[in-house]
Amino acid sequence: MLAEAAVKTKMTRYIFISGGVISGLGKGVATASIAFLLKSAGFKVNIVKIDMYLNIDAGTMNPLEHGEVFVASDGLETDHDLGNYERFLGRRLGRKNYLTAGQLYQRILEKERALKYDGICVEAYHEVPRETIKFLRRAAKNSDFLLVELGGTVGEYQNVLFFEAARRLKIKQPNNVFFIHLVYLMTPSFLGEMKTKPAQQSIFELNRLGISPDFLVCRGEKLPDKRRIKKLALAAALDREFIFSAPDTSPVYRVPLILQEQGFLAEFFKKVDRPVKKPTLLAHRQELVKWQRLIKKIDSASKEVRIAICGKYYLSGNFSLKDAYVSVVESLKIAAWHQGINPEIVWVDAEKVEKEGPEKFLRSVAGVIVPGGFGGRGVEGKIEVIRWVRENKIPYLGLCYGMQLAAVEFARNVAGLKKAHSTEINPQTPYPVIHIMPDQEKKLLSRQYGATMRLGNWPCRLKKGSLTRKAYQKSLIYERHRHRYEFNNQYRKKLKKAGLVISGVTPDFALVEIIELPKSVHPFFVATQFHPEFTTRFLSPNPLFLAFVKAAGKYSVK
Ligand code: GLN
Repeated sequence: MLAEAAVKTKMTRYIFISGGVISGLGKGVATASIAFLLKSAGFKVNIVKIDMYLNIDAGTMNPLEHGEVFVASDGLETDHDLGNYERFLGRRLGRKNYLTAGQLYQRILEKERALKYDGICVEAYHEVPRETIKFLRRAAKNSDFLLVELGGTVGEYQNVLFFEAARRLKIKQPNNVFFIHLVYLMTPSFLGEMKTKPAQQSIFELNRLGISPDFLVCRGEKLPDKRRIKKLALAAALDREFIFSAPDTSPVYRVPLILQEQGFLAEFFKKVDRPVKKPTLLAHRQELVKWQRLIKKIDSASKEVRIAICGKYYLSGNFSLKDAYVSVVESLKIAAWHQGINPEIVWVDAEKVEKEGPEKFLRSVAGVIVPGGFGGRGVEGKIEVIRWVRENKIPYLGLCYGMQLAAVEFARNVAGLKKAHSTEINPQTPYPVIHIMPDQEKKLLSRQYGATMRLGNWPCRLKKGSLTRKAYQKSLIYERHRHRYEFNNQYRKKLKKAGLVISGVTPDFALVEIIELPKSVHPFFVATQFHPEFTTRFLSPNPLFLAFVKAAGKYSVK
């Protein structure tokens, strides 16, 4: 009996997080916040996001619909929630942390073709939950807690088998599986009263799937009052102490503190028994203290700096959506907050610049970012923006496409190569300063689009004395990539002669990874082939973003 108890307590606890009423509730932030709290209490925590899409990964999803494609260090193109997890948890995640329905069906169908099912009728009802549980068990290895975010909203047809996987895991390990359900409490303006019925219905929907929530987290504009909590407690058959609130707040990094103010960990451990091992608390507590300090610093930041982000993935029907750039925005904000600066982000639509010119949009900004992108729409607008910041000596940070277009702009307007371009946009350009990587061309010709770009971590050597080297304080860095085109080496000499600094190359010198302008001609002009925005964490911003914001801060003082 004793031995059995010991085994049981050592096992990973699975915490499933689901959402009801509406999508876009902030399940990712809630999951990341709870993971951070458990980590700060000294436990080993891992997270899995399950997406119900048939895409194998997020690389083939439209950023306007699904938001940013977050690139993990192992090259996985994933959901932007993994970006939240990394920023909160402060560590790298990857393939073990992201599961889509597409991946599962691919695995099951490959097995079916190989006769691995011994000729039975293969039923999704059995195989999808079985494969899901296998995936989760792998991710759970060596962790005290595995948090599993169930994508979508309870009651959707598409994710029902993932809820079934969770239910079956609970049957197998009743003492180690728990459910946190997020609900939205709306206050319709025509009523002026907070309504709980949709949230109650989402709880009943969860019950219909054979799951009873162990905890509720209430989302909404405001905190629910006692009356509303009582109704929810009755619907969920829960004591009130297991119902928490996470009202809208800014920044999202405040959420762990808001939960903890309600005694989250103490209540959580009333239901979930701790794994036997005594956690080493001190280092983790220090992290919580650092977190609290940074939130205080944000609240008291007085200096404002206006930074423009010039892109094109903004309009979705009648609404504009900035989720396509979430890591860029978070990196910028975090880098600013660490320096006691409040950033004001100005969105500049590249297509509007093409019609109206850059000056109108950039007159009062202290720094400009051109982030990653694909295709020809808005490209000339972005190039005009880069020309404007170069000529007016406004701090500039170019990310991936923003680096490629900076090279094009420099070639055209400084090196005199008039019709220079990237062959992605103009394959006939007389000066292809950006061209496709040879192995990439083959992939495109054979229509292999999924997960075939140059992806994930690559090493880069930094030039002594460069702005980038000064920012990183290191000679060798690893940053994440996602592109098919690159700087054409045939133009290295010519552009260098015209004054461009190549400040980062692959260790074999084969690929140009960073370009900049010397400090003598521009205060801060740095553009990278990689995406530094993917390595910012709340407690440790990426060094290039720090350096860029610092330069923008100085510029706005002038
Ligand atoms: N479209 C460019 C390429 O494929 C840049 C990609 C990006 O910005 N992520 O190389």
